[in-house]
Amino acid sequence: MLVVILCLSLALPLFLFDRATYADGVALDNPMFRIGIHHGANALATVRLNSSARVEFGLTAPDGAVIPLLADESGGWQIYREAVRLVAGPFGDQAAAAQVLSRWSAGSGPAFILRESAGFMVAGGLFATVEQAVQHLPGLAAAGINGVTVRGMLALVSGSLPSIEAAQAVRERLVSAGLEGRLYFDGAWRIAVGFATDTTLIDSLRVALVAAAPELVWESLPRDFRRIHVISQDGRLLFVYANLSGLTLRAASSADFMSVESRRHRGVFEFTLDQMNRFMVVGLMHVDDYLKSVVPREMPASWHIEALKAQAVVARTYAYANRNRHAALGFDLCHLSTCCQAYGGVEWEHPNSNQAVDETKGVIALFNGRPASTFYHSDSGGHTENVEHVWTRAIPYLIGVSDPFGALAGSTHARWEQELTQAQMQQIARFNGTDVGTVLAVTVESRFPSGRVSTLSITGTAGRMSLRRQQPRLPDGSTGLFALRSTMYTVTSRVAPVVVQSAHATANLPGLQGTQVATAAGVQDLLLAPEHTVRGASVTSTLRSIPSSFVFVGSGWGHGVGMSQWGARGMAELGHSYREILVHYYRGIWIADIPH
Ligand SMILES: [Zn+2]
Repeated sequence: MLVVILCLSLALPLFLFDRATYADGVALDNPMFRIGIHHGANALATVRLNSSARVEFGLTAPDGAVIPLLADESGGWQIYREAVRLVAGPFGDQAAAAQVLSRWSAGSGPAFILRESAGFMVAGGLFATVEQAVQHLPGLAAAGINGVTVRGMLALVSGSLPSIEAAQAVRERLVSAGLEGRLYFDGAWRIAVGFATDTTLIDSLRVALVAAAPELVWESLPRDFRRIHVISQDGRLLFVYANLSGLTLRAASSADFMSVESRRHRGVFEFTLDQMNRFMVVGLMHVDDYLKSVVPREMPASWHIEALKAQAVVARTYAYANRNRHAALGFDLCHLSTCCQAYGGVEWEHPNSNQAVDETKGVIALFNGRPASTFYHSDSGGHTENVEHVWTRAIPYLIGVSDPFGALAGSTHARWEQELTQAQMQQIARFNGTDVGTVLAVTVESRFPSGRVSTLSITGTAGRMSLRRQQPRLPDGSTGLFALRSTMYTVTSRVAPVVVQSAHATANLPGLQGTQVATAAGVQDLLLAPEHTVRGASVTSTLRSIPSSFVFVGSGWGHGVGMSQWGARGMAELGHSYREILVHYYRGIWIADIPH
């Protein structure tokens, strides 16, 4: 009976977690992630794309699937939003248009070559109104670009057509009637004609369209900045996409990379316009394609493969734990190291870290069935830290453990020294809310069992204050002020030596802090003060005792919570597997295989 119970207790977790798919609301069965590549401050006015393979433009269905709309051969593309533009031309060949394009002033907005039935045009600007566009005409004339016209956003659009082929056929008929039609998609294929600045032009256009294609109904297309224009490298306007959901682009073969703004990525791109009418680019990619770019940025790819594998599992776990982090912006994780994890596309990849990602496919760290909070740091300095000693909330698996491995691996942070001046120390006190005046002493008041300083006091001429936990390390992330590598340190003051002359000898004291004096009442500790008056038999002298600087000697780099990267390297070099590394730094986690 006992045997049966033992078997059950061993088998149950395997059954529950070995193929974990759903854990307390966290989806573990979907390996596809949405990564914000361009958004916020680095959203784009226009997008430049390249592919060495045939591509498909499409749209994202509500369930995340990509619905292909239009294919094009390999090459380059630019994506613009609709706007009022200035247009020069037509020119007889692309070279003549390129000549004009090269003279287009950057101040008049981004410009591109547009190949139309009349010839090659140069179009530029992202203007909101005709008036704004017109203001740029003198500048273009000064650059020798004349005969420029303004194109607006008013157009006529046909009724829906059954297929892209039917739309192309209509466009060809219009061209032969001298009308420039564009493929237009707003859920159905249509043909749009016009891009006029006023309704008078639209009215005359309607007459011409009814004559050329009498079977079609033409409706007015109002101004809309959120329509997307896709223009090929040779100037063809492939189609206009009315802003439904995101416009997507993918290589016809999944083995090929595409580049956005000259940076190559795996997966599918999605382009949407943000509130400022700038393009946000989201990469839809498999978690492992994302991790291949992340892992070598988080840990040097030259490190031991088992350490890299531990880092891969940590990064993968982070991704699952933080899915939907940027749901309000329409993606899961951003590309910034300061917010999520640093992601930079294929160029960042390295064969070693790729191997680490591939050999840990589907492996993540779970606790109670949820992705664990896999905090990590560069070097623990010898002992990792309980999470509640760094932040506030205790987490069962984030407890301090002995960690001699970083030093064994030759960590460059095993020992460090940093000197802070009197002025810097005063600034740190002020930054943390107290003006202590001239700093007389900096003292470690208490330490956690790991050896990290829990309370550091600063005593000055005008007051005294205590800094707790990480406060002395990063009081100001923006200036990096103080920026001690860790809170595992000792501190000493540097004071000009004080010369004390007695009847018998001359002594050099390293400052007066901790000095004892013999008084009439007995031997006492000298009180902290910037200067002391000494009365001799014949002369009164003043001894100054103001530290010029404070020297911190410490070990480790980072907060000390979770995995030490140098420690992981040390363990790997001693022959430990990535699983052993993970369960050493995250006590009690379950290393699970999830669908991938
Ligand atoms: Zn983020």
